[in-house]
Amino acid sequence: MMKKLKTILFIFVIMSALRPANAEQTYIIKKLIGKGKNYQTPYYVFESGKTGHVVLLEGGIHGDELAGTEALLDILHRIRVNTGKLIIFPEMNKPACDQKKRFINIDINKIFPGKKDAKPYEYPLANEIFKMVGREMVEYVVTTHESKHLHQLKNSNSFGQTIIYGVKPIPSYAKYWIKTLNEKLTKKEKFTLHYYPIPTSSTEIFVETYKLKGGFCVETWRKFNWNRRVEMHKYVLLTFLDAIGFDYTLANQEK
Ligand SMILES: [Zn+2]
Repeated sequence: MMKKLKTILFIFVIMSALRPANAEQTYIIKKLIGKGKNYQTPYYVFESGKTGHVVLLEGGIHGDELAGTEALLDILHRIRVNTGKLIIFPEMNKPACDQKKRFINIDINKIFPGKKDAKPYEYPLANEIFKMVGREMVEYVVTTHESKHLHQLKNSNSFGQTIIYGVKPIPSYAKYWIKTLNEKLTKKEKFTLHYYPIPTSSTEIFVETYKLKGGFCVETWRKFNWNRRVEMHKYVLLTFLDAIGFDYTLANQEK
C-alpha cells in the first residue's frame, strides 16, 4: 500500500508543479516524525498557499484501531486543498500499527506531552508529535479511534459511536457537524457527542497548550464491519471539514 501511495503522491507533486502559474497552487509535502528512529512515521501536509484553517486529521495512535487510518489514506489520495493547510497523519504509532497492537510498551495516549530522549520509545514519539502540532500551527485536530463497546448513557466509560471532547465549552460548530454526519447514517450508527476528559490524552493536551479551536476523538464501534467503519470515519472527517468551512475538493467520488 505504501509503495502505491508514494507513486500517487509523486505524480501529484509533479502535476502540481506543471500547472499554469495562474492556477491555484497546492503543495503536498511528506514530512517525518522520528526520522531515522525505529518509530519513524510520515505525515502529509497540504499547503494551499492561501490563508484559511489549519487542520490535523490523525489516526493509528492505537495500533489495533485502523479503520480511521484506512479512511485517512483514502482521503489523502483524493483530496485537494483550496485554502488553508491540511495535515494527514495516518499512523501515529507506527510500530504498534505494524503489529496491529494497541501499543508496544505503553499507551502513548496516556503520556502526552511525552519526553525527549526518554525510554521506552513512546515518550519521545509523543513529544515529537506534541511539538509538531505547535510548529505546524494547528488549529483543529480530529483523532480516529475504535471501541469494543457501544456507548450507553448509563456507562460513561463506553465509547462506540461517540465523538469525544475533553475541553469545555464545546465549539459552536460541533452540533451542526454531528447533525450533518448523522443524516448519512442509520439509526444504530448515529454518533453522539460525549464529554470525557483525560488529562494526558493527546487531544486535551493539544487543545489546552495551543488553544485550539477544536479537538475531538472519534470512536467507531468495532461490531460494525470493517468497510462500514472505514466509510463512517470518512463521513466523520469530511463532515468535520465541512462544518468548520474548510475549502477542499475530492477527486473520483462525490463527497
Ligand atoms: Zn483508541
